[in-house]
Amino acid sequence: MRIFENFESEVRGYIRSFPTIFTKAKGAILTDEQDVEYIDFFAGAGTLNYGHNNENVSKALIEYLQNDGIVHGLDMATTAKKEFIETFQNSILKPRNLEYKMQFTGPTGTNCVETALKLARLVKGRSNVIAFTNGYHGLSQGSLAVTGNNEYRDESYISRTNATFMPFDGYFGDFNTLEYLRKFLNDGSSGVDLPAAIIVETIQGEGGINVSSAKWLQELESICNEYDILLIIDDIQVGNGRSGEFFSFEFAGIKPDIVTLSKSIGGGLPMALLLFKPDLDQWKPGEHTGTFRGNNLAFVASKVTIDNYWQNDDLSNAVKYKEKILRSRLEEIAEKNNDICDIEVRGRGLAYGFEIKNDPSIASELSSYCFNEQLIVETCGSRGQVVKFLPPLVISEDLLVEGLNRFEEAFEKLLQDKEDKLTKEY
Ligand code: PMP
Repeated sequence: MRIFENFESEVRGYIRSFPTIFTKAKGAILTDEQDVEYIDFFAGAGTLNYGHNNENVSKALIEYLQNDGIVHGLDMATTAKKEFIETFQNSILKPRNLEYKMQFTGPTGTNCVETALKLARLVKGRSNVIAFTNGYHGLSQGSLAVTGNNEYRDESYISRTNATFMPFDGYFGDFNTLEYLRKFLNDGSSGVDLPAAIIVETIQGEGGINVSSAKWLQELESICNEYDILLIIDDIQVGNGRSGEFFSFEFAGIKPDIVTLSKSIGGGLPMALLLFKPDLDQWKPGEHTGTFRGNNLAFVASKVTIDNYWQNDDLSNAVKYKEKILRSRLEEIAEKNNDICDIEVRGRGLAYGFEIKNDPSIASELSSYCFNEQLIVETCGSRGQVVKFLPPLVISEDLLVEGLNRFEEAFEKLLQDKEDKLTKEY
């Protein structure tokens, strides 16, 4: 690990939580240089919904490269892009009665979110955006500020700091937080400017696996319609089947104005895709540009995943089936230990959180103990107090069960070590 410590910036993150050097990966298994195999319940933070080196994806990529397919094409037309757009329109959007234009942004989630906000502000000519407590949408903010070209800087309606935070579903327990939001919008003297958009995750991935209800999302959509506000669903982490449906908002029957997708949309390769209702397509040609918009290898990979997993309900049903296993096992572990810990299990699809409420620091210790049991799990939440479960959607039942057994073992070892330490102290 010395090479990383010596030469890679202190900004290193996940490498610290999982301190080994990985060499190979397949499905839900990561293998390190010592040939130790880890079960991956993190899946690249939701990027590997179809597993590491998905067989169909690898085969298609190898064939594409062997045939000298275009790897980089700026945003020029390529066969790979044409086929991806056709597949996405026909197999994802049409069956769901969704009509969206597609915009390829820079390949990261944050690029896609920046574009969504910029478009919403451009269309509405307003600068405020409402976001929610514990929401996470990316970390970029400065690249335009250091770009000199006034063709891009002529954005008088943009203030990159103009955001108002409102309480997410459940933030105050049973209190309907949208009543609170409505009051601010209704009151011309509330101090909250009418926003161009409201941006929300249906399940807050980084924020602690906080799940919004269908009713809340429906009411949010009505508020947006009532007040002429664009609704942006950030489906970067929990889209692409993670919730059990392709889009995480389908269960609520809503039709957001704008949707951000990244992570698993590229079948494991970098790609981001912004979707918006056709009347919002008010860009001038080239008005929002960038070098890496549309990764042709990701188009190939993405098309293959859609062809293989989204022609019928098999994957959705598999996610729902595995969710039952995940939820019931986590609840069982929680119940067993609730006399010493105050644990809450929550989630939807294959995105679950195991929050240890009485001692927020336990979750990150638990992640390290899991690593020692050869299980990769990360933490989330405002204080890192939630252990997050995001296994690949295609994980086998056996590996899912084995991973959960390792989790229980790690948890028991951690609690035992804590008890031993306490006994020694007294
Ligand atoms: N939105 C959501 C919901 C996310 O979970 C993330 C990443 N965790 C982002 C945006 C930002 O994506 P990226 O890290 O690729 O910039």
